[in-house]
Amino acid sequence: MMTNAIPTGLAGAVLSIDLGALQSNYRALSRKAGKAVCGAAVKGNAYGLGVNPIAKALWDAGCRHFFVARPVEGEDLRALLPEAVIYVLDGLFPGQAEFYAGNGLCPALISLDEVREWAAFGRRYGRALPCAIHVDTGINRLGLTIEEFDELLSDDFLRSGIDITLLMSHLACADDPHHPLNKTQAKRFSALRKKLPGIPASLANSSGIFLGKCYTHDLCRPGIALYGGNPTPGRKNPMKAVAKLEGTVLQVREVKKGDTVGYSATWKAPRDSRIAILGAGYKDGVPRHLSSRQKDGPAQVFVAGKRCPVVGRISMDMMAVDVTALPVSKTVRGTRAEIIGPHLLIDEVAGWAGTISYELLTRLGSRYARLYSGTANLGKS
Ligand SMILES: *Cc1c(COP(=O)(O)O)cnc(C)c1O
Repeated sequence: MMTNAIPTGLAGAVLSIDLGALQSNYRALSRKAGKAVCGAAVKGNAYGLGVNPIAKALWDAGCRHFFVARPVEGEDLRALLPEAVIYVLDGLFPGQAEFYAGNGLCPALISLDEVREWAAFGRRYGRALPCAIHVDTGINRLGLTIEEFDELLSDDFLRSGIDITLLMSHLACADDPHHPLNKTQAKRFSALRKKLPGIPASLANSSGIFLGKCYTHDLCRPGIALYGGNPTPGRKNPMKAVAKLEGTVLQVREVKKGDTVGYSATWKAPRDSRIAILGAGYKDGVPRHLSSRQKDGPAQVFVAGKRCPVVGRISMDMMAVDVTALPVSKTVRGTRAEIIGPHLLIDEVAGWAGTISYELLTRLGSRYARLYSGTANLGKS
């Protein structure tokens, strides 16, 4: 078990990351991807969970292709995994080709300008350098247009200046299997592939893997599902929870009927109540929008085997929970309450906060004890 600098006993909140569950998710997605190879999106510090232990565990589970957003994320990952294939999704930053080449990073090129710059650098460098070609098939975010892709293929000088190791595109609506844009993008992508025979192709993110065989191609790029997010919204989550955030009880107090709790006195006790104050707040990544909500019932935390409602405002360092329903002995100073984890899945908590699992994870703070566990079976099973 690895840990960061803050000892558990001195942390208000504890973030435990189950690398065994991560590896199990990787294997499950690999199986689901069928003949396609499974890579991993580890951008944003592996969605906030810590890229070094996460990427190492994925490598040990057999993952060889990694996707980062920024070139410096690629540099960090290269220092950890000397042999990994690393694609930089934000493309080639102007004037930075040497940085990419020096770190063995493959830019996912998104414009003809970038292709020209990568080819020109390769010619000076002495060889065509590896890269992905990212074509936009309908999300209208990053990528060459289909016309620009055709232009690239018809320009022999340009084409021979780069070593295309991957043709990729990104789905806009993969989390909604009935959205018509999925089929449109799949069709366009298959047509692109035919123009570039023999080059591996990649279309699917986490949810894309669950859309069926027309989407998986040669290489999949799951992110959120590796980290426990549900790739099949509306259906049961097939993934294991990877992150568990717990708040430590700092104090338990008796509150009389009619008394209020927290800033702005937003919650009034409907009966005499016992309130546990946890040492976790928005600085620790607990969304302030979990503050006691009226519509659709309150947000909850899981403590001593029961879900208990959040009451009052989430503050910077603290939050309050109504534990009246629990035996007194079950919530005392030092008790830990689960805020996200196996009993409170990230999609559910994100929904309470009006956001998505991605944002919830990537906004986790840095002030807790971080525990990494579950690496005992590396390489096995
Ligand atoms: C972030 C990202 C992914 C991973 O997406 P998930 O929905 O987290 O699986 C894949 N491809 C691209 C281009 C991305 O930006």
